[in-house]
Amino acid sequence: MQTSRNITIAGGGIGGLVSGIILQKAGFSVSVFEKLNNCGARFHGDWQGIENWSSDKDIIEELKIFGIDITDIIIPTSNFTAFSYKKTFQINSSYPAFYLVKRGSDKGTLDQKLKYIAEQCGVKIHYDTPVVSMDNIDIVATGPNPKNSIYIAKGLNFTTDCYNVAAVYLDTKRFPYGYAYFLTINGQATLAMCGKKNTLQKKEKMLNDAIDFFRSKLGLFEIQNKRNFGGYGITPLPNIFSISKPLIIGEAAGLQDNLFGFGMRYAFRSAIAASQCIANDVPYHSFFKNKLAPDVVASRLWGKIIFRALKNPGIDFICSMAEKDCQSSLKPFYNSSLFTKIAGPIFS
Ligand SMILES: Cc1cc2nc3c(=O)[nH]c(=O)nc-3n(C[C@H](O)[C@H](O)[C@H](O)COP(=O)(O)OP(=O)(O)OC[C@H]3O[C@@H](n4cnc5c(N)ncnc54)[C@H](O)[C@@H]3O)c2cc1C
Repeated sequence: MQTSRNITIAGGGIGGLVSGIILQKAGFSVSVFEKLNNCGARFHGDWQGIENWSSDKDIIEELKIFGIDITDIIIPTSNFTAFSYKKTFQINSSYPAFYLVKRGSDKGTLDQKLKYIAEQCGVKIHYDTPVVSMDNIDIVATGPNPKNSIYIAKGLNFTTDCYNVAAVYLDTKRFPYGYAYFLTINGQATLAMCGKKNTLQKKEKMLNDAIDFFRSKLGLFEIQNKRNFGGYGITPLPNIFSISKPLIIGEAAGLQDNLFGFGMRYAFRSAIAASQCIANDVPYHSFFKNKLAPDVVASRLWGKIIFRALKNPGIDFICSMAEKDCQSSLKPFYNSSLFTKIAGPIFS
């Protein structure tokens, strides 16, 4: 194992911090350069879910193997409600389907927890330091580029009297390539919608429709201390040969589930892979090419089949399968197979 080498990482988001922690713990001397004034400053205190179905491994246990224990800031969620255009599905799983975390630069967020662990083990984080040239960088973890992102999200954070809710609303007539979601923990709520940029033209109206919809299903909950937020994501995969030096991870490398937009797990997976490749002096390129990229292609193909071809009946089919067994019914959409390897590139 190589040690005592300096490692530079562009981007102090979750991918950059996880790879920094692993490498610092492996004996490297890590510097992270973050363009904003704090880790998580890209986000606004919204709830996000770390999905726990794309792999047999529990993501929280996987992180613990590398000395990253985030158990005190996660809300394990095994039950949630999926509303489709005509039905209501209660999705239950025997172990957490996802872990809710807050994103942002406030205390208690995932970003601040990882920052704390990173600083504790000696990672040096430099704020207000945008990296312009990646020539001397080992790992690029700069998140999505707004210019080539094809999805946007728009939502509200607020306090409410509707205490603990995890619900999603999928209706391809209202949200052609996306959905709305409502998450509240102890009265702190996030209600948002996401979809392809060009399909969310009347964002304000669509968000108000989503609020009305959740109120019609869950009761007339209050909305107090309202704060708007927005975001973007889902970028193309890079040319496979451009990821060998520097190593590109997370959303900077186009690694995001193209079916429902989950990106945190990919940020962790690619951060773990890249840091282990550096520590063990093996190429990251082949793991990216053979596992990470094909899984993204699989989710993109299924996204097209479900949202573009099958539409609402397809959504109902997935939800009815997930009602029986959430993890085993969703996992195939996130893992490449012979079918997705052949059909994925054709329909991209
Ligand atoms: C509204 C919204 C809701 C979402 N909900 C979910 C969800 O529920 N579940 C899920 O799994 N995913 C969700 N995602 C996606 C998820 O947040 C991202 O996939 C994940 O944060 C990607 O991690 P990352 O480390 O690649 O990038 P980020 O976490 O974005 O970190 C990148 C960092 O790099 C910094 N940076 C950028 N350029 C430079 C530069 N030139 N120099 C230095 N620093 C730079 C940025 O400031 C940022 O801090 C959501 C995204 C949005 C916008």
